[in-house]
Amino acid sequence: MNTTAALIETEYRLGAHNYKPIDVVLARGEGVHVWDTDGKRYLDCLSAYSAVNQGHCHPKILAAMIEQAGKLTLTSRAFRNDQLAHLYEELAALTGSHKILPMNSGAEAVETAVKAVRKWGYEVKGVPEDKAEIIVCTNNFHGRTMGIVGFSTDPDARQGFGPFAPGFRTVLFGDLDSFRDAITENTVAFLIEPIQGEAGVMIPPSGYFTGVRELCTQHGITLILDEIQTGLGRTGRLLAEEHEGIEADMTLIGKALSGGFYPVSAVLSNSEVLGVLKPGQHGSTFGGNPLACAIARAALKALTEEGMIENSATMGDRFQTGLKDIRSNIIKEVRGRGLMLAVELVPEAGGARKYCEALKERGILAKDTHGDTIRIAPPLVITADQVDWGVGQFSDVLTAA
Ligand SMILES: *Cc1c(COP(=O)(O)O)cnc(C)c1O
Repeated sequence: MNTTAALIETEYRLGAHNYKPIDVVLARGEGVHVWDTDGKRYLDCLSAYSAVNQGHCHPKILAAMIEQAGKLTLTSRAFRNDQLAHLYEELAALTGSHKILPMNSGAEAVETAVKAVRKWGYEVKGVPEDKAEIIVCTNNFHGRTMGIVGFSTDPDARQGFGPFAPGFRTVLFGDLDSFRDAITENTVAFLIEPIQGEAGVMIPPSGYFTGVRELCTQHGITLILDEIQTGLGRTGRLLAEEHEGIEADMTLIGKALSGGFYPVSAVLSNSEVLGVLKPGQHGSTFGGNPLACAIARAALKALTEEGMIENSATMGDRFQTGLKDIRSNIIKEVRGRGLMLAVELVPEAGGARKYCEALKERGILAKDTHGDTIRIAPPLVITADQVDWGVGQFSDVLTAA
């Protein structure tokens, strides 16, 4: 019962089929590499959707996890622990945030922001009860909970799961007029990804976010940036908002906040929004637990002290240039920022999945998204040689077609 095929068969038989993974069964990881059950090595070009920015099994995060796990793992927030204050301090120093609320998954951070911003709308902005509106974008991805899928525009995410919570308006991503037209006196927040990851690494036109920031300030709208995927070095900066020269009122981080060891997310707030939450109005048994905090502290330290953000910028440019130099009539566009990259294929290529399967055979794990796009997001510790080798594999697969 331990051959690869048997493991896949058991998963299929006993597990819900809410994923369709590429058939590789991974057993070990180190840095940018993972190994399957047969010992074959792959360059990980997904990094668990950017949760493993620091590289697989980063030794210092591992050591912090083991040390804390032997001391104290969970107290609940009914009592205090000696790690949370340090995480607050270090996150605040790094991001300039004034208030922080720790949760576990990314979706929980999004739900937390939605709750807080609605309450802020009623208590501070003076919106009539139950009238708060939050503006979101077409092709958004903010997670999988009921509240969140209700304002998704992806039929797969929504279909069959209603009825959904009201209070959301959808505008075109990257279109300032669309956003302006949707604003009412009851608008409490604009929730948006700086770069849409799941939608296929979609970067809005330059100047868009400057306009968004101005409109939000002008109309007293809380700008919530979902940096769960773009944040923590992925785009070559600590936060993707830095590329736009703006500051969000609330920033959501998760994924790489733990370097992939543990679910840790956080709502960072620059305004009075989180201040409206009083004892008993929000919480999570595991949120802010000492194990999570110790892991997150080590993960942030690795990211900043080991030059990973700068490496993301330089290796991202190298990877993108290499991909752009590939001459292939099935490539429609190469785009990205830092190590958040995508190759979009022409429709005639017949979908990105089969190229991901071919890349797997050559030792690269990458994920197709939205049909025609291959997403490329290796751990931020990738070296120039590894980038060049990766580009070579992409070149071979995309020119063989
Ligand atoms: C992954 C992701 C989420 C959801 O995070 P989970 O930990 O899977 O709940 C939310 N927003 C963005 C932009 C993401 O990429």
